[in-house]
Amino acid sequence: MQKILIVEDEPSMRLGLKDNLEFEGYEVLIAEDGQAALDVIASNTFDLILLDVMLPKVSGFDVCKKIRKEGNTTPIILLTAKGEEIDKVLGLELGADDYVTKPFSLRELLARIKAVLRRGESLQKSSDTIVNIGRLSVNFGSYNASEENDSVQMSHKEFEVLQYLWNKKNSTVSRDELLTNVWGQEIHITTRTIDNFILKLRQKIEIDPNHPKIILTVHGIGYKLID
Ligand code: CA
Repeated sequence: MQKILIVEDEPSMRLGLKDNLEFEGYEVLIAEDGQAALDVIASNTFDLILLDVMLPKVSGFDVCKKIRKEGNTTPIILLTAKGEEIDKVLGLELGADDYVTKPFSLRELLARIKAVLRRGESLQKSSDTIVNIGRLSVNFGSYNASEENDSVQMSHKEFEVLQYLWNKKNSTVSRDELLTNVWGQEIHITTRTIDNFILKLRQKIEIDPNHPKIILTVHGIGYKLID
């Protein structure tokens, strides 16, 4: 049974969602503020977290930021209030997977939940299988990379940058997005550092690193991995 955490301070909303999701066959836990959410996340594993943004004690953003920084990759759907466009962008940059704007219909929310859970399952699979990226065969699960059966040295961070781009292949990933999702709050990292990582990855992946065909530069924004 898939397990969902609902973090919502409004009692009627919290209980309504709980009843409906249980009816749909999910196992549901609830938390009524950000601190309670962090506590329950620390001692449980979830398939999905529904996270209200405006919460007492610790905001939804801070919950999101904190658990991502700790390496927790549980899918998160943010529940944002109407008109808070900035919240959506910020939320996705902080590592949320999707957002639903209040007021939402149950049908819409269930569709988003199913989509995010499906995506989570396929990511899980991708971390156990070997993928071919340029000259390399890469196993993200075991942090192994090889070129024609010869092992290639790559740092954990290089793997993480590459995996992030791979999971978002064929779409543009901004430097800020990489910074937030791979490095989190390590403040000594600048976008320049990211560019250096990309240069190193290209040396290992591209047939001609000076004319990259796999990790492309999207000028003024970031990078795109082509598959
Ligand atoms: Ca709220």
